[in-house]
Amino acid sequence: MNSNTYIPDAFIDDVKSYIPEHLTIEDFIKSCQTPLKRAVRVNTLKMSVDAFESECAKRDWIITPVPWCDTGYWLERPAAEEDALPLGRTDLHLSGCIYVQEASSMLPPMALKDTLKDAHTVLDMAAAPGSKTSQLVAMLDNEGFLVANEYSSSRLKALSATLKRVGAHNVGLTHFDGAVFGDYMPEMFDAILLDAPCSGEGTVRKDADALKNWSLQSNVDISDVQKALIKSAFHALKVGGTLVYSTCTLTPIENQAVCQYLLEQYKGLIEVQSLHDLFPDADKAATEDGFLHIWPQIYDSEGFFIARFKKTGSQAVSEPKNKKGAFPFSPMPTKQSATFIQQLKKQFAINALPGEIYIRDKEVWLFPNVDNERLLHSVKYSRIGIQIGSTHKNGVRLEHEFASCLGHLAKQNVFDLSSEHAADYFNGKDIRLQTPTTHTGEVILRLRGASVGLGKWQKNKIKNSLARDLILDGMLITW
Ligand code: SAM
Repeated sequence: MNSNTYIPDAFIDDVKSYIPEHLTIEDFIKSCQTPLKRAVRVNTLKMSVDAFESECAKRDWIITPVPWCDTGYWLERPAAEEDALPLGRTDLHLSGCIYVQEASSMLPPMALKDTLKDAHTVLDMAAAPGSKTSQLVAMLDNEGFLVANEYSSSRLKALSATLKRVGAHNVGLTHFDGAVFGDYMPEMFDAILLDAPCSGEGTVRKDADALKNWSLQSNVDISDVQKALIKSAFHALKVGGTLVYSTCTLTPIENQAVCQYLLEQYKGLIEVQSLHDLFPDADKAATEDGFLHIWPQIYDSEGFFIARFKKTGSQAVSEPKNKKGAFPFSPMPTKQSATFIQQLKKQFAINALPGEIYIRDKEVWLFPNVDNERLLHSVKYSRIGIQIGSTHKNGVRLEHEFASCLGHLAKQNVFDLSSEHAADYFNGKDIRLQTPTTHTGEVILRLRGASVGLGKWQKNKIKNSLARDLILDGMLITW
């Protein structure tokens, strides 16, 4: 029980006005004061769920499956281990195999699961720090094209770091007020997630001060932003496409009322797709309208709200716009790309790359495959795909992201790091080899089966190629 949790009386009075009859305010308050159980999601781009389960069994980590997410688990570690080594410093985390994510926050991407099977182009309109973006990328298995947008510059950096850690290569990052997408990219997306900025009333179990600045007026103010964003999402969605709207707040002002606004603005052009059967037991949180209103005491989680819509008709945007900006990339010339692929074939037995190779000056980029060229040219991207190398006189020198995102394609020149090697590697040191090697050139380093980086074979060691900004701060890592 966290007795420091700040819950203002005015907030409680407000909640009393809309809490459903089958729930009590006493249980709600108790639950707000109870710390959250930690949950993680297995990043299936790097590790299978089966492999994760057996890794947990080896280390006496207790896991309980999250019923609504096939890759989610509540996780408990032995207390002594937890004190000695934060989860973020463990091999499974450093290698990008797991992502710490609150269980109810796994729901919005899950509500898009069926759509994603056929979706090529997806927009995550308010994406940082990237929990749900990384979940969407894993659900798409790095295929298709996902535009991840974030308005705040500092949070955009966090989003970019998340995507690097999990090995995403099918993402275009943008940095706009999400309200522009309807005008700039009308009807371009098969699926859109709008995990909207909100008053965060549902997050009080994680952050005891979450309600410090709470006021009814701030709920109303944020709902104006949410309405502008949901309108933009409607226009950016293709007819037949699916929109999921979610918040981590409880007030109907930011939830049901925003959905109602959408349905009224575009009467006959959009309909609710009920979520009452999204998972067994979803009924407990389903509203009459088919939304999920997750109160913290229902599933012992954070509070959340999720709504799903299908667009059934079109309405032209009044003034479609174009926000092009410079596009300093060009496809790598055929001869040069054939030579590059030959280099990859020889070193790693990789015969093809999953995307289009582009160049900008000396930089070599792998762009996701797009089904519509306009996607690349309608808006200015902060980044598209990943930089896999840079050209120099003897060919292409590979970058870290080549290994962390595409290393699983390699069939040779791969080295499995032991725990001791991995500690050296993440601390920027070279890896000593027991017996001298005859291999030469670049080598992909793997940890627990996940590709984590690049090194260079040298006689008695593998030279560490980890960039300075990725090196840990000297804290000793032991497993
Ligand atoms: N989807 C994220 C995740 O799962 O990690 C969490 C998103 S958080 C609820 C909402 C985000 O919207 C914040 O990062 C905030 O900076 C961003 N934001 C605020 N106003 C915005 C706007 N007008 N357009 C786009 N993003 C906005």
